[in-house]
Amino acid sequence: MHTTAGGNRDRGLGKPTGNISAMTAQYPKLFEPLDLGFTTIKNRSIMGSMHTGLEEAEGGFDRMARYFAERAAAGIGMIITGGIAPNFECSRHGAMLATQDDVPDHRKVTQAVHAADPDVKICMQILHSGPLAHTPDLVAPSPVKSRIGRYVPNELDYDGVQKQINDHVQCAVLAQQAGYDGVEVIGSAGYLISAFLVEKTNHRTDEYGGSFENRMRIAVEIIERTRAAVGENFILIFRIAAMDMLQGGMSWEEIITLAKALEKAGVTIISTHFTWHESAVPTIATMVPRAAFTSVTGRLREHVCVPVITSNRINMPHVAEEVLESGEADLVSMARPLLADAEFMLKAAEGREDEINTCIACNQACLDHTMSGRMTSCLVNPRACHETELNYEPTEAVKQIAVIGAGPAGLAYATVAAERGHNVVLFEASDTIGGQFNLAKRIPGKEEFSETLRYYSRMLEVLGVDLRLNTYADADTLSEEGFDHVVVATGVEPRIPAIEGIGHEKVVSYIDVIRGTVDVGQKVAVIGAGGIGFDVCELISHSGKSSALDRDLFAAEWGIDFENHPRGGVTGVEPQVPASPRDITMLQRKDSKVGAGLGKTTGWTHRLTLARRGIKMMNSVEYVRIDDAGLHILRDGEPHCLDVDTVILCAGQESLRTVYEAADGRGLVAELIGGAYEAAELDAKAAIYQASHSAAAI
Ligand code: NAP
Ligand code: SF4
Repeated sequence: MHTTAGGNRDRGLGKPTGNISAMTAQYPKLFEPLDLGFTTIKNRSIMGSMHTGLEEAEGGFDRMARYFAERAAAGIGMIITGGIAPNFECSRHGAMLATQDDVPDHRKVTQAVHAADPDVKICMQILHSGPLAHTPDLVAPSPVKSRIGRYVPNELDYDGVQKQINDHVQCAVLAQQAGYDGVEVIGSAGYLISAFLVEKTNHRTDEYGGSFENRMRIAVEIIERTRAAVGENFILIFRIAAMDMLQGGMSWEEIITLAKALEKAGVTIISTHFTWHESAVPTIATMVPRAAFTSVTGRLREHVCVPVITSNRINMPHVAEEVLESGEADLVSMARPLLADAEFMLKAAEGREDEINTCIACNQACLDHTMSGRMTSCLVNPRACHETELNYEPTEAVKQIAVIGAGPAGLAYATVAAERGHNVVLFEASDTIGGQFNLAKRIPGKEEFSETLRYYSRMLEVLGVDLRLNTYADADTLSEEGFDHVVVATGVEPRIPAIEGIGHEKVVSYIDVIRGTVDVGQKVAVIGAGGIGFDVCELISHSGKSSALDRDLFAAEWGIDFENHPRGGVTGVEPQVPASPRDITMLQRKDSKVGAGLGKTTGWTHRLTLARRGIKMMNSVEYVRIDDAGLHILRDGEPHCLDVDTVILCAGQESLRTVYEAADGRGLVAELIGGAYEAAELDAKAAIYQASHSAAAI
């Protein structure tokens, strides 16, 4: 058999391999220190704030300490923690820093980060959720229920406002005692402070409502009083909504006024944010162009002297470098990219950008989890937030391992096993790696998926995996080569539903449609409305360039006016969505809303896009037959015939286990992973998760 001795892994993954200062020359702006006067941030990268669920988990602060320390050890300049509440009005159960008793937990985190690298700064985000709080004790400037809130908030009286300000100050003082280098106060996203800033949610008539000067008073007083309490040598960041993405949000003049007032009040840094959670504009999903909003930060930067942070869809070092080079920001915040790869900055420093496991902005294991109360992680990196539980330790008993199938499951298994020191042969019957990801990357708006394939392709080389393309591994090959362990990751095949006329010439598979190997007519029925049904509808209803690759197209499609910056960036702007060039109906048998099973944080964008293009969505259908007249269905017992010239099957998957059964029959020690193990509800997240855990244990 063709085995290797682990390829390049001996060079020590994650350890400097050359002259770092020479290599950082590739990203001179990104690696330039930022002098804040009383302290210095060692480079321009920030791991942005992201609630992970570790904050509330049993033993979560120990896990958080490890999670952040790994990122600190690998070169990030500054870390901002997930949001921490300053009082019970935000939450009855969420993480809080309100008394001395809360300090020791936080100290675990700051000590771990500073032990990993004393030059790395860590700031704690103070998040007062205001009208978005999940408690009946919630407070807001006025009793205006958020579209996504649970309760009508309690209106704050004057004393109540003072209490909220004092609680912010107290929280910052405690953070200082816990060893943080600073705090970030979030004043955006629809949380308490932002609810004061806009008339839509602030109906007050006292000094905290009415004119903009009054509406911004709480923000300014929080910063003034916090600065007075913590002294000069403590980083104070304010997160401002530089574009609320909300009808009736702040005007550009108000944003500038606020930024200048915050500067006068004593902020060290202003961080720009671009959304309210209830906004109907995607701002971080994979269909958002890279660095789409940084020009807004750039315009604000012209009006203030303090450094400004930009963010959103900056997922590779060269993107960050371009933003900094263009003068649009002083610092670049990347939250999800640091979940996807803890060594992002180390790899950038060493000229190993091609080894970065890039965040593809899918939200599937991070925000979708966070928003549904599950622990945050990452689709492409299941170790994220599980650093104390899932580790790829060097093996003490090197095995010869065959992995069959180079889709996401096979790739994850092969790379983890090889990283641990096993000798791995990866068989792939086709001429390329990637499996279903090769289909995903062809969907407009999912171009980022090709980054995962670039990552795996490079890691197979780095780790010395023996990749055999165009090779069907049958039981004979496997037993001849004497493998110790055979891992079958042969994936799935499309389900062919038992519908009369399924063999009709107008019936095609989604695979052929996505690969472009069949013609699709003008009138189309799509059977199945899962992730793939939506992907196929996106593809065949799309015309022209992908808006994920063109910021102007994206802005037009979602009704954002970057040029004139009306209130919230969107007020009065009509989305311009090109109609579908085809007449498309997507169908499912279930009674539930079509698309209900899509990702929690991104499903609405897909449903809205297709609806705006005029795609019809039908639930509760029964398929009767397909013939020359079209697709015959029953709905509420009534027969209908959809006059279509193409029927695309997107009816789910079935496991492909032929190789497994053959290998098992020959007595080989075989293991099933990914879609071959379980096709139902399988997605790349589950496949990579299962494969990584399995390879960590062999
Ligand atoms: P899926 O999500 O399981 O959807 C299958 C669809 O086929 C359902 O709408 C189902 O609806 C229908 N169906 C199932 N059995 C059928 C039958 N016998 N006859 C007719 N219709 C049938 O599977 P998928 O769309 O193939 O996606 C595969 C996996 O990839 C999923 O886990 C999906 O989440 C993931 N994926 C995710 C994304 C994403 O953007 N997050 C994109 C693509 C794929 P009814 O049973 O109601 O008819
Ligand atoms: Fe990025 Fe997806 Fe990972 Fe979230 S789950 S960090 S969006 S790759």
